[in-house]
Amino acid sequence: MNRPISRRDFFDGIAVGALGSTVVLGTAEKAEAPQGAAFRPEPSVWRGDTAQALSVPHALRDGRFWKLAGTPEPTGESYDLVVVGGGPSGTSAARQWLRRHPGARVLVFDNHDELGGRARREAFCTGRPDGVMCDAETFGADTLVRMTSDWIARLPIAWRARRDLRMLHEDPPDWFPGLGPRAKQERLAELTYSRFLLEVCGVHPDAERFCRTMSSGAWAYDTRAFGAIDAWAGGYPGFGGLGLDRSEPSRYNSPTVKRAWSAAAGRPSGDGPVVPMRLGSPVVSVRDGAESATVGYFDGDRVMTVEAGAVILACWSAVIPHLVPDLPAAQRQALSQAVRVPVLHATVRLRDGDAWRRAGVRRVRWTGAYWCLTCVEPSGDVRMLATPCRSELGPEPGSVAGRRKLARTPYGHLERTVRDQLARLLGPVGFDPARDVEAITIDRWGHANAIEYCRPWHPFYPDGPFPADVARRRFGRIAIAGSDSVPAARGDAAVTAASLAVADLAGEPAR
Ligand SMILES: Cc1cc2nc3c(=O)[nH]c(=O)nc-3n(C[C@H](O)[C@H](O)[C@H](O)COP(=O)(O)OP(=O)(O)OC[C@H]3O[C@@H](n4cnc5c(N)ncnc54)[C@H](O)[C@@H]3O)c2cc1C
Repeated sequence: MNRPISRRDFFDGIAVGALGSTVVLGTAEKAEAPQGAAFRPEPSVWRGDTAQALSVPHALRDGRFWKLAGTPEPTGESYDLVVVGGGPSGTSAARQWLRRHPGARVLVFDNHDELGGRARREAFCTGRPDGVMCDAETFGADTLVRMTSDWIARLPIAWRARRDLRMLHEDPPDWFPGLGPRAKQERLAELTYSRFLLEVCGVHPDAERFCRTMSSGAWAYDTRAFGAIDAWAGGYPGFGGLGLDRSEPSRYNSPTVKRAWSAAAGRPSGDGPVVPMRLGSPVVSVRDGAESATVGYFDGDRVMTVEAGAVILACWSAVIPHLVPDLPAAQRQALSQAVRVPVLHATVRLRDGDAWRRAGVRRVRWTGAYWCLTCVEPSGDVRMLATPCRSELGPEPGSVAGRRKLARTPYGHLERTVRDQLARLLGPVGFDPARDVEAITIDRWGHANAIEYCRPWHPFYPDGPFPADVARRRFGRIAIAGSDSVPAARGDAAVTAASLAVADLAGEPAR
C-alpha cells in the first residue's frame, strides 16, 4: 500500500475528459510559493480548477481516495497553526494569527499551484457596459448597440419591447399602488428580476431577454436567479415609480447589497507577515487529538502528515465533511449545503489591439452568447467572462447543474467560442481571430464564489436561523473560516470569516 501514487490515479472520468483536452497545465505542481506574481496570458493555457487541482478533492468526495492512498507518513513537522486554503480568508487568518503571536510557526496548504484562491486574478470587466451585443443566440442575428443617446431606438427587438424598455427606464408606474414601502419591498423579495419584468411589469419577452445578463458580471447568474429586491437596490430599470427610498437598503437585500461591494478590502495583499505556503498540496484529513491535531495532505506521491496546535479550515465548506468525518451530523449536513457558483475567465492577448478603438466600445455585454462580458483592459488584453450557472433553476441547483456541464466542456470548445465571439464583435472592423489572437488563457473556476443568502431563494433570510451558523461551529482545535462560512462572495467577507475563526480559537466571544 505504500507505493507512490499520482494525481492521475485519482482522476475520474469527467476530469480525464477535461484534462485530455488541456493544452498546457500550470506551473510546477508543488511549490513553496512566492507571493503576488504578475500575470500575463500564455499561449492556450487552462488554469484554475483544473482536473489536476481537483483530482484529489473529487476522489475524496467520491470515496475513492483512501482505497489507493496508503498509510499516511508523518513529516515530523509541527506547527502552531495550520490553515487549509490559500485564498483571501486563509492568508488573512494566517496573518492575523502571526500578528497576535509573532514568531509562531504557521503553514498554509492549498490544492492549487498558485497563491490567492479565487481572488488571484484582478477583478475585471468592472463598470457599466458601453455596448450591448444583441446576439444571434437571443435575437437571431448579431447587432452591436453602443450605449449612446437613444440606444433603445436602435435595439433589434420587437417595437413593443422597445416601448416597454423606454417605459422601464423613463417613466415606470407604481406597480403596487395602495401598498406601503414595507409591503412593496416584501413583494419584490418574492420575485426574481425576470419574473418582476414579465409578471408585474408585463413587458414583452424581448425586453426581458435583453435585460437577462445584466446581473451576470457581478453575481455570476442572470436575472432569472437575481432577486428583484437586489435589482431595485442596484438601480435596475423598472422601479422608479414605486417611490421607495433608495438611500437605505431593504432588510431583504442580500448582505453584499447592504454593504457596498469593496474592490480592495480583504484581497490578499503583500502587507503583513509573510505566510509560508505549501501549494499543490490538497489536505485530505484533519483529526483532532489530545495533544495536537493531525493534518494529512497529498504531496503528489503519498499522504504526509504534520501536527498542529490549531487548524483553520478556510477551504470550501462542502469539502470539510470529507476532511473531518468526526464532525456532528448536523454540522456536516450544513457544511455540505454550501454551494459555489461556477465562473470562467478568459484572458486574450491580441496582435491587433487597435480593433477595439475602431469598434468604439471597451466593455460589451452579450445577451445570450456563451461569454457574457467582453472588455479590453488598459494593457490591451481582452478579458471575457462566462457564467455557466443554469440560472433558471436558482443559484444553488443552477450552479450544480452548470458545473456538471462545465466539467464535460473541453478546452477546445471554450477556445473556439472565445475566437468566435471576438470575430463577431471585432470582425466588422477588420479583426481576424486566426491572425490576431496571440494567446488565450482560460481560468475555469468550478467552485468560484460563495452564494450568499438572497431573496427569493432563501426564505429564512434575513431572520434566520442560518445553515452557516451551524456549519462554522468550532470543533476542538479546529475552527472554520472561508467566505462560505459567512456566506458572501466578497474579499472583505472572507477576511471577516478569518477574524471570527482566529477569535474563536482564542476563546473570544462571538461578536
Ligand atoms: C474574478 C474574481 C474577481 C473578484 N473580485 C473581487 C473584488 O474585486 N472584491 C471583492 O471583495 N471580492 C472579489 N471576488 C470575490 C473573492 O475573490 C472571493 O469571495 C474570495 O476569493 C473568497 O475567498 P476564500 O478564501 O473564502 O475562498 P477561495 O478564494 O476560494 O480560497 C479557498 C482556497 O481553498 C482551496 N482548497 C479547497 N479545498 C482544499 C483542500 N482540501 N486542501 C487545500 N486547499 C483547498 C481552494 O482551492 C482555494 O484556493 C472576486 C472573485 C472572482 C472569482
